[in-house]
Amino acid sequence: MSYTSTCHCGTIGATIAGDLPAEAMTCNCSICRRKGTVLHFVPADAASLHAPADKLGDYRFGKNAIHHHFCMDCGCTPFATGTDPQGNAMVAVNLRCVEDCDLDRLKLTAVDGASF
Ligand SMILES: [Zn+2]
Repeated sequence: MSYTSTCHCGTIGATIAGDLPAEAMTCNCSICRRKGTVLHFVPADAASLHAPADKLGDYRFGKNAIHHHFCMDCGCTPFATGTDPQGNAMVAVNLRCVEDCDLDRLKLTAVDGASF
């Protein structure tokens, strides 16, 4: 099984090996609260990115630890990339961009990212 998170126009996205998660997180940090993302983190080697360099926006702030990618055509944010506290490469999948995901059935955990 796999699932795919895509931007609205389909230019960028990420295909993740494995089943759709039953749980995800929301976050109150300065960027998540604005974008309304519903995130699920996977190891980078489980993700196959479709990211043409000339269309892949890369917004960073604060410690610059996370690449908040977005599509330069439609503006949607199907995934972000970065490293976990142990230094492992991770992909944060925005489940709002996964059409197969039933958002109303996800068990959501609120993370207090604003305090990190
Ligand atoms: Zn797009």
